[in-house]
Amino acid sequence: MLVVIEQVSLYMPEYVGKKDVLVAAGKIAAVEDKIDLSSLRGVDIDQVDGSGLVMVPGLVDSHVHIAGAGGEGGPATRTGEIPLKELLEAGVSSVVGCLGTDGITRDVRSVLMKVKALRELGLSGWMYTGAYQVPPPSITGDSARDVALIEEVIGAGEIALSDHRSSHPCADALIKLASEVRVAGMLAGKAGIINVHLGDAPHPFQPLYQAVENSQLPLKQFYPTHCNRNNQIYLEAKTYGRKGYLDLTSSAYPYFKEDEVKPSRAVKGLLEAGIPLEHISISSDANGSLPAFDARGNLIRLEKGKPKASLQEIKDMVEQEKIPLEQAIQTVSTTPAAILKLKGKGRLQPGFDADGLLLDRDLNIRYMLANGKMMIKDYQIIRKAHYEE
Ligand SMILES: [Zn+2]
Repeated sequence: MLVVIEQVSLYMPEYVGKKDVLVAAGKIAAVEDKIDLSSLRGVDIDQVDGSGLVMVPGLVDSHVHIAGAGGEGGPATRTGEIPLKELLEAGVSSVVGCLGTDGITRDVRSVLMKVKALRELGLSGWMYTGAYQVPPPSITGDSARDVALIEEVIGAGEIALSDHRSSHPCADALIKLASEVRVAGMLAGKAGIINVHLGDAPHPFQPLYQAVENSQLPLKQFYPTHCNRNNQIYLEAKTYGRKGYLDLTSSAYPYFKEDEVKPSRAVKGLLEAGIPLEHISISSDANGSLPAFDARGNLIRLEKGKPKASLQEIKDMVEQEKIPLEQAIQTVSTTPAAILKLKGKGRLQPGFDADGLLLDRDLNIRYMLANGKMMIKDYQIIRKAHYEE
């Protein structure tokens, strides 16, 4: 079936004006001022009136605990697998899964199987092999081999640094892992990147600077996340981000407003500090547990992040921070797709995958397309996973 979206205000992410967008075989087939459908009589066409709506690329969420995470407060605090509907209501059409704190009782194979499940349900998915620990758990017995040989694996992570839950790898161990994963990425035509969880320790970027100083690795081999977890890390990010990538976490802010720097405000501040837009991304960290510890390390509070937090930050970037939509949307689509070398993702132009959101005036999702298939129609989720209500 063909889909034609008529007269929508299109952000590729660059704003290109009111356009007709033709979707065929899961891809953006054409973008024109007006597409003449008269020669296609007899063909099944889903016509969508895009007037009054804006179309932006579908969200690329680069850090989600899709197969569950948590457990830092005991077995009862583990989170389950992420439901499809949580990703759809968030406008996420591409997701990168990761394991998290528990590389001891959980398995990266479960993450791989969840990626396959999400693909079967119509989304696009990839994963990082490994967990917080170094050396990380793997599927084939070796992180680099996972990246080279398993199509869904695009890098290793989330490796925890500067955190009390990290395995505190020495610089040599981190360099070895990053170098091997980098070469595996080259062999497989992938990013081969190391997704890094940065914790609360003072000068959290230090282990990354150290790894780069003592090797030939570029800083962009690392993709550090949680760069807005407190004011200290955010201030240091304003230096790190000149040369390296910065990923901000959206789902923690609603629960920890006193500690976290609000992502929308952080993006504004980083741009004002001269950090290039293409170095700044936002991921949700959804489905991970969000534990709070007191000064003595006791767990005092536990929450679970939601992927839709990123969409809220886009709205707040536009409405509160006055960041143009075409810039705001890049942080959750074009930029992570480019950093992670996700082919066909992050742009709405002919030849790219038809992953798009049609947003109303309040930036709520009226329609969502993933790989050319309608997932949300008139604000209603129309794709359901098995066992979901
Ligand atoms: Zn993390």
